[in-house]
Amino acid sequence: LVSRDHKSEDTIIKVKQTTIGGLSHTLIAGPCSVESREQLETVASALKQTGLSVMRGGAFKPRTSPYSFQGLGEEGLKMMKDVADESGLVTISEIMSPNQIDIAAPYIDIFQVGARNMQNFDLLKAVGQTKKPVLLKRGLSATLEELMLAAEYILHHGNDQVMLIERGIRTFETATRNTLDISAVPILKQETHLPVLVDVSHSTGRKDILLPCAKAALAAGADGIMVEIHPDPANALSDGKQQLNMEEFQAFWDGLTDSGLYR
Ligand code: PEP
Ligand code: MN
Repeated sequence: LVSRDHKSEDTIIKVKQTTIGGLSHTLIAGPCSVESREQLETVASALKQTGLSVMRGGAFKPRTSPYSFQGLGEEGLKMMKDVADESGLVTISEIMSPNQIDIAAPYIDIFQVGARNMQNFDLLKAVGQTKKPVLLKRGLSATLEELMLAAEYILHHGNDQVMLIERGIRTFETATRNTLDISAVPILKQETHLPVLVDVSHSTGRKDILLPCAKAALAAGADGIMVEIHPDPANALSDGKQQLNMEEFQAFWDGLTDSGLYR
């Protein structure tokens, strides 16, 4: 169902007035974790200023350590909805288990299935039975074949509104948090009809190379980019090192649009 042989034309995801896939690019930005209403309001106004329409923010957080901030849960999702209702933004947030689907559905527009749950088959089946778009992240050690088969689960269970996102894979390289597999982009674009995005924040883990990596993603044919931004990264409750502050985000956006690659 995900293959180009099955369907040759590009899938375009439509949410509110926003489309993902097709002829225009999408930049998804927002904090790693939802922390407060004020935080989201600052991020939302930065997005509105640049004319962007999709805000991310994690409320159910898959943290490596049980002692790290685990996310605000439903309270965080409520904040997202309040800010989205005021700003007209489309929202995306991660769910980690099937039972979080019903909790999250009233508050957000797009479900994110995170890298750690790419092969949580019960979750894939469950989001497949919903009517909301799903952003499926590549697993830390998943092959492209495994990513496509994970997407196949969602389509097979009835939901064809699926986007794929390369977010870096585990290699021996330590200069970056993960290794951005840029070749994933043209391969997934060739093999599937689904929108393909690149998360430059989790794939690199470092702010200084986000712009060239985003340009590379667009040059390789990606439909969009995801980037983490935070009003005060130094005090962020997760992923502080890789998040851009609002000024850096503006420079990132200017660099991307000046490159002529973003359309
Ligand atoms: C995220 O996008 O919030 C996240 C946890 O990313 P990943 O699942 O790719 O690690
Ligand atoms: Mn993060």
